[in-house]
Amino acid sequence: MKPLFSFTRSQLREEISSLGVEPYRADQILGWVYKKGILDFGSMTNLPKDLREILKNLYVTKSLTLLKKVQGPDATKYLFRTKDGHLVETVLIKERDHYTLCVSTQVGCAVGCTFCATAIDGLKRNLSADEIVDQYMQVFTDSGIKPRNVVFMGMGEPLANYENLRKACEIFVSPWGLDLSKRRVTVSTSGIISQIRRMAKDPLMRDLNLAVSINAPYQDLRERIMPLTKTNPLDELMEELKRFPLPRYRRITLEYVLIKDLNDSPQHARDLAKLIGRHKKRFKVNLIPYNPDPLLPYSRPPLERIFAFQRELWERGISTFVRFSKGVDVFGACGQLRAREELCQSG
Ligand code: SAH
Ligand code: SF4
Repeated sequence: MKPLFSFTRSQLREEISSLGVEPYRADQILGWVYKKGILDFGSMTNLPKDLREILKNLYVTKSLTLLKKVQGPDATKYLFRTKDGHLVETVLIKERDHYTLCVSTQVGCAVGCTFCATAIDGLKRNLSADEIVDQYMQVFTDSGIKPRNVVFMGMGEPLANYENLRKACEIFVSPWGLDLSKRRVTVSTSGIISQIRRMAKDPLMRDLNLAVSINAPYQDLRERIMPLTKTNPLDELMEELKRFPLPRYRRITLEYVLIKDLNDSPQHARDLAKLIGRHKKRFKVNLIPYNPDPLLPYSRPPLERIFAFQRELWERGISTFVRFSKGVDVFGACGQLRAREELCQSG
């Protein structure tokens, strides 16, 4: 049985034609699935009965099994299991007037940032496109909520799983798919330069929102906390970002996790401003106060230190926001995703 969410529109039309069925039936199926959230072929009433039977035997509409949901005041964490037994986490975040879904792209992560809980067990494997899309579909069908925004800030490094990420994004933003606005889908990367270049040349991917985790304003500190910096030097990364073809009125987000006594001084802020240089209109900075993990030796700076950092950047004309992660109380905040079942007590 094949996963239905692994098909783009053209692939499904081709597949359906090869069964001797007219290709417009593919569009009807996609309409039920992505517009209405109806996954049961038996309920797709505009399809002939015999076709519904055939589809039931050929395709599965669940790639993941929902194990648990942990509800907090402003976020719900969904814990899934893959067919081969890995755990995957997705977080639904309530904003003032809409929902954002934080989606995982890998089981674990190979990048090895020293401050991130996802890095602790290394990379297990990439998620397939259908496993990425299914995180959205299960939340949609379970809660009836169709999140307006998707951020690839769950477990894993999205650009290290480019092909599957790309296909999932095609399903997220296409009119025949989930039809999300491209500016409401955010790819967050630790800064793999070759893959950012690839994204820049890809008409589908370059119109999405790009967020880059900078986390340190100079090479040696960044190397220490984000080891990929050795092979992806900070100055080259910044050059690439200054060249990246941005849609009008769009900015690249620089994410900066503030860690106590490590990268949180006013001098670090001034150095970050220097890194941005005269390209102030091209970037905005999101400061993320560190979310602690029992296994990691870091902590969050005091509030006045956080706001002093922000002030340094404001004074230099750089749009800077402090983003307190939601979902800390369900271990669903940035850097806390490690898919440990024992941390997911329901209730
Ligand atoms: N791998 C991608 C996306 C997932 S991480 C990336 O690194 O960008 C999403 C964000 O969470 C990144 O900006 C990362 O720097 C941040 N993050 C990681 N660990 C964190 C922690 N313990 N507290 C706060 N933010 C953290
Ligand atoms: Fe991977 Fe991102 Fe965590 Fe770094 S911060 S280990 S790239 S998930």
